[in-house]
Amino acid sequence: MTTHLFRDVALPGSDVELSDSRIDVAVTGDRITAIGFGLEAGAAEVIEGRGGPLLPGLHDHHLHLHALAADADSVRCGPPHVHTSDELAAALARAPGEGWIRGVGYVETVAGLLDAADLDSLHARRPVRMQHRSGALWILNSTACEAIRLETADHPGVERDDSGSPTGRVWRADAWLRERLPTSEPPSLVRVGADLARFGITGITDATPELPPDSLSALLDAHLSGSLPQRLHLLGVPSDGPAEPSLHPGGIPFPNTVTTGPYKIVIADSDPLDFEALAATVRRAHTHHRPVAVHCVSREALLVLLAVFDEVGSRRGDRIEHGALIPAESFQDLRRHGLAIVTQPGFLAHRGDDYLHRVAPEDLSDLYRCRSLLSAGIPVALSSDAPYGPLNPWSVIEAATTRRAPTGEILGAKERLTATEALDAYLTALDAPGGRPRTIRVGAPADLVLLDRPLAEAAAPESDPVRCTMIRGTIRFRR
Ligand SMILES: [Zn+2]
Repeated sequence: MTTHLFRDVALPGSDVELSDSRIDVAVTGDRITAIGFGLEAGAAEVIEGRGGPLLPGLHDHHLHLHALAADADSVRCGPPHVHTSDELAAALARAPGEGWIRGVGYVETVAGLLDAADLDSLHARRPVRMQHRSGALWILNSTACEAIRLETADHPGVERDDSGSPTGRVWRADAWLRERLPTSEPPSLVRVGADLARFGITGITDATPELPPDSLSALLDAHLSGSLPQRLHLLGVPSDGPAEPSLHPGGIPFPNTVTTGPYKIVIADSDPLDFEALAATVRRAHTHHRPVAVHCVSREALLVLLAVFDEVGSRRGDRIEHGALIPAESFQDLRRHGLAIVTQPGFLAHRGDDYLHRVAPEDLSDLYRCRSLLSAGIPVALSSDAPYGPLNPWSVIEAATTRRAPTGEILGAKERLTATEALDAYLTALDAPGGRPRTIRVGAPADLVLLDRPLAEAAAPESDPVRCTMIRGTIRFRR
């Protein structure tokens, strides 16, 4: 019994003969069960396509769910909301509520690399923790340092001055910092789930490293309750336990819509690179049958990582996150190790002007490569890195096709993709980023997105082209 019928849709890319025609797609339960002209609706719910494209649901291959949820309640501390120290002080003063203020999106162009004393001069009354736009650094004012007794901390990420006093800067210590903060529930994911559905996203890879047990169970609970209906692929599941099932700390087995991905490793941009430590971490994950997903932003980090793979060996499914700077000389090694690049051209649209100032001119041609990687036979998947980059996939696809900075300058015209290529990089399976794009076919899961306009028009900044999103046969967004 057909449960839903998408009537009169276009199926771009799925079959040459059908691509220009309007056709019907029937769904029964959680599967596509028929594709054809003039299908009988019977008692099924009919969704009128009006000739709009029907696509497999999009997969965002790298984002951070809890950070996204927390982001909504945070003070914006950088461009385009805040540009100067006066504006930052005003924004902090306007923070709603009482107690802790959580700032996000700070970047040095606002007021330099702040320490606790600098931040005190902007806001001293309430405890403030302000996250750098990179996600790598928190800056705390003195009230916040006292509240969490930063003085007594033994975490290596707590920066200290020559006299041994904390500077207020805490690097890559999110899990540690969270433990010291007043206890609060992990933020609700209802809004994130709804936003993702509105954008046509039916599957996501959470790239948060080392998910603590409470975060992991909160993600699973949100999924099981339906508030986060998207398929989940988790990179932050610890590498030393059993991969699957029963990952839930409460002993609940994972449903088959939640999967363990490669093990996330962060090569800190701020620390000296430690070849032996990185090799040991990759080896340990591989020993536990986990590929690795390595955060790799700088050229140096990439070269060290490739040397590690030369020594340890690569494993099917190993991938590189961001790949912000990839010299052409590494293409051969990337291909030899079968590494996929999970990248974010959306950063060009948000921060491209900043890159033009801060990235060495000779490096600009290596910045967020796309086209040259594809041409070299290296798998490329697109993603948002939200909340650090723009979540909207239609904005990211547009950024991949234009590579236009906020100032209007083009960064790496040779790296532009067509809208279809960029969309394809959102359509691959969660466990095969950069692989073959999924297609609409009989027997495939009913993860579907119906657009109200052709793809070329859908790919635009702040675009809102989705008319209906279905996940496993249930409509999760419709307008
Ligand atoms: Zn990330």
